[in-house]
Amino acid sequence: MDLQTLGVGADSALDNVSREVRAVARFRDPERCTWQRLRVALLRAAEALRLATGQSAPPIQVDPILPLRKIAPLPRYFSSNDSPEAVLVSSGTGFFIRLRPGLSECRCRWSKAHELAHTFFYDLTKCPPERVLTRGLSIKEEGLCNDFAAELLMPLGLVTGEAARLQEMSLWAYLHAVRREYGVSTETAARRLLRVQTRFRFAAAVFLDATRAPSRAWWGAGLQSPRARERAVVKRVQYALQHKKLEELDLVRKEENGLASVWWKGGEFGGHYAAAALIDFSRSRSAVAPPIRQAIQP
Ligand SMILES: [Zn+2]
Repeated sequence: MDLQTLGVGADSALDNVSREVRAVARFRDPERCTWQRLRVALLRAAEALRLATGQSAPPIQVDPILPLRKIAPLPRYFSSNDSPEAVLVSSGTGFFIRLRPGLSECRCRWSKAHELAHTFFYDLTKCPPERVLTRGLSIKEEGLCNDFAAELLMPLGLVTGEAARLQEMSLWAYLHAVRREYGVSTETAARRLLRVQTRFRFAAAVFLDATRAPSRAWWGAGLQSPRARERAVVKRVQYALQHKKLEELDLVRKEENGLASVWWKGGEFGGHYAAAALIDFSRSRSAVAPPIRQAIQP
């Protein structure tokens, strides 16, 4: 299985990534050097692969991109659902992806996009492909593969262009409209929108994913860090999701009326409990303080 030529622009974007991976591998301790140039190259490669398969609108299909990185089109499956969500296996002249059985369509798409990124850490001229970074997977590599998957499935250029069209919706409705349109999970959409979308700058999202043990609720904030009182609201929501104290969420909603709009949803998904909450602080941020003159009048 030879690598296809994708055109000068795309080929050079992919070559750039290989060059940056080799540059990182030359360091005695790759973990201690910056991977910033590699990150930029990898994000450009995500765009190049998407455009090479003629995709300029969501949902981005991952399957047509797999053979461009020597990945067999059909995944294989682990025998138990306690397995990792996905792994990339180097075999024969290329790779195959092994998935946990029973993953949702969204999680499959995410996992394939993430594993695609791992192929860049291999020398594809070898049969089977060999890892260039011989120390094995690191947190840095995992982070870059997540960044690649986010850029592939929710390209920055497309996601930032959505704001005007969806202006009239609440943040929660907006999040779900984008999630459906891009074919990603609520968590993936929220992570991306919080990081790149100005409409989410005064927002925070809290997620509980019980598929990971121990189950833990993580939260992420938009482009502006939350203030102390907002952070306290986020912590209350995090606690409520973590301990499934859903009545507490109603209390937060009531007590913080005026400071925050809180939405949440939880339930069983594929035998695991998962929950999501979104908190919008934009109303409190836009509230205008009374003019000083008026405030000091008797
Ligand atoms: Zn990975």
